[in-house]
Amino acid sequence: PDSDTADEAVRSTCDDATISKRYATSKGYWTDPYVQYFVRSVGERKAPEINRGYYARVQGMNHLLDAFLRKTKCDCQIVNLGAGLDTTFWRLKDENLMPRKYFEVDFPMIVARKIHNIKTKPPLSKPLIETHSTDSLLLDGHCLDSDRFCIIGTDLRDIPGLEEKLKKFHLNPELPTLFLSECVLVYLTPEQSSKLVNWASDTFHTAMFINYEQKERFLKTGWENADALDMMTVYSVLPQDDVARIERLEFLDEKELLQQLLQHYSICWATKDKLKLGMCFGCL
Ligand code: SAM
Repeated sequence: PDSDTADEAVRSTCDDATISKRYATSKGYWTDPYVQYFVRSVGERKAPEINRGYYARVQGMNHLLDAFLRKTKCDCQIVNLGAGLDTTFWRLKDENLMPRKYFEVDFPMIVARKIHNIKTKPPLSKPLIETHSTDSLLLDGHCLDSDRFCIIGTDLRDIPGLEEKLKKFHLNPELPTLFLSECVLVYLTPEQSSKLVNWASDTFHTAMFINYEQKERFLKTGWENADALDMMTVYSVLPQDDVARIERLEFLDEKELLQQLLQHYSICWATKDKLKLGMCFGCL
């Protein structure tokens, strides 16, 4: 396939992720009042092991993200790379866990769709307006910039372009910074993803990178500490009363199916900590 077709296939994965999250939340695996504004219908049934897999993915990522926010007392910034239609900004606003500024990056075409949804759905735009006090709200087809939330349309394979745009919207290299990539680096070549991860560690002296992926992919280059847990382990260390709750939602006959699925994925995280905030997060 030519590169446009390949990129289009990659972009369509953001719908897959959101449709699956929408379905799992409709079943009660976790609560997300905002995902419904990005995919209208609940869609076709998904197998219980898929729902449990998404549950472990979302809870595991949130757990590390919230730990970073607490450690920095929210005096930090977050950059969600390949954010797609992710709803974390709204969750953090509702939970009073807003960083100084939350950035998202994705292809311009995806960003345009996301901005359109935000513009046309008051439950999405209201929190954004509430966290904005200056008169400089920028909202055009493929870019949004407010005091606390910024969405940038650019290609993650173009590091100079990415850096220029993040700078333009006041990403501050002196502030503790959390990078998130949830099922994104796998769509880049190993060279492209290591360039991106390297750029992050070169540019920020106090930072953390959290990556959800198939197990083999994450590169540790340039980071002081790195750790990984396969999703089977994540599942076993999540709060077990909540795990027991979701396991009652749908019957799963073959436990091995879930194990096989979870074993192929992992959450990896890497940190550097010049400010000595104590960000090693040795255990989840
Ligand atoms: N992180 C979101 C989540 O977990 O719900 C979306 C995950 S989706 C599987 C992968 C996302 O990465 C898509 O939104 C896609 O457009 C984005 N992406 C992949 N390669 C990219 C690139 N080179 N530049 C910008 N975005 C990219």
